[in-house]
Amino acid sequence: SRTLSKRIETLSPSTTLAITAKAKAMKAEGIDVIGLGAGEPDYNTPEAIIQAAYRSMQEGKTKYTPAGGLPELKDAIIAKLKRDQKLTYTRSEIMVGVGAKHALYTLFQVLLNEGDEVIIPAPFWVSYTEQIKLAEGTPVIIQTTADAEFKVTVEQLEEAVTERTKALIINSPSNPTGMIYSKEELVEIAEFAKRHDLWIISDEIYEKLIYAGNEHVSIAELSDDAKERTLIINGVSKSHSMTGWRIGFVAGDASVIGPMTDLASHSTSNPTTTSQYAAIAAYNGSQDIVEEMRQDFESRLNRVYPQANAIRGFHIVKPKGAFYLLADVSEAMKHTGFTSVDHFSAALLEEAKVAVIPGSAFGSTTTIRLSYATNVEAIEEAIRRISHYVEQNW
Ligand code: PLP
Repeated sequence: SRTLSKRIETLSPSTTLAITAKAKAMKAEGIDVIGLGAGEPDYNTPEAIIQAAYRSMQEGKTKYTPAGGLPELKDAIIAKLKRDQKLTYTRSEIMVGVGAKHALYTLFQVLLNEGDEVIIPAPFWVSYTEQIKLAEGTPVIIQTTADAEFKVTVEQLEEAVTERTKALIINSPSNPTGMIYSKEELVEIAEFAKRHDLWIISDEIYEKLIYAGNEHVSIAELSDDAKERTLIINGVSKSHSMTGWRIGFVAGDASVIGPMTDLASHSTSNPTTTSQYAAIAAYNGSQDIVEEMRQDFESRLNRVYPQANAIRGFHIVKPKGAFYLLADVSEAMKHTGFTSVDHFSAALLEEAKVAVIPGSAFGSTTTIRLSYATNVEAIEEAIRRISHYVEQNW
């Protein structure tokens, strides 16, 4: 019969993409909406990267590549991991995917059997839970608190772990919280993973966006054991402002990377060839532009954070990385008559003409996410609008 699969019936579409689409549609109707929903840098891709991509096409490099990525791109990634993480990988330990999102999707397909559990600290990035469910796994959510800077503790992990636990996700710097795990915290988490013999999925896509002198530590750097059980997820989307090129990667044990590559060989054949050449230029070229963009994000953060935190009934832990402000709006909701962040966010879009992402997308019922990956004037105007709306309805 002409029915759809069970697996697709339980799938929720990406809220982030849905809200961004709605804000765009309102703009197209001529409504002056400010979008703070976006999960991407607002810069164009650096010119040298675009030129390298163009050259590769002129040179006829427009054919299929190996499924897991061009050897030259794997080498550029290996050099990046050596340079930044002091970690040594070989080509058989790298798979290039169609963005970090597809790399993660493929990873869950390879790791999980029905009912296998994956621990995810909340608030979490919207796609983890859906991807795990698509692989018939079970997401096990741990709620973190603003007091703990939205970071999971080993006590919480010990409570959540069961016989069926297979993996644990660490996303540092985090989308949506902007928090960063310290080396000491990661040491404890790595010991926990060793005690229970778990895979660690370390999503480091915001590695290059870190502020106030904080440092990025990959959990894989901490010991040989930690490296063996960690699958690092990273890519050029956020670091080099290349979201649309769709290049991300997984680095980890060859016993996982091999089957992932086989799966990719039947699903994508390979990530877009031109994008792979662009990514080679991104990793092998000067990294100055990455640092320039980081500095710009940091100055935006320092300018808009106090203003956003001053909105009546908003409480924001100052982020240390990424480009999001996660505001606890329970007090603002209470005084403006809302009981759900979905309704509150819908009202901000319809009444204040500002698009934000409700925390419900991240497993959080009391927060909204504001992206500051847009120009400062627009963010300041958006904050004024939200503030005005809250004051009017208090
Ligand atoms: N992981 C996190 C935490 C993200 O926020 C994102 C993008 O929003 C991704 C992974 C996916 O990145 P990509 O664009 O490379 O697929």
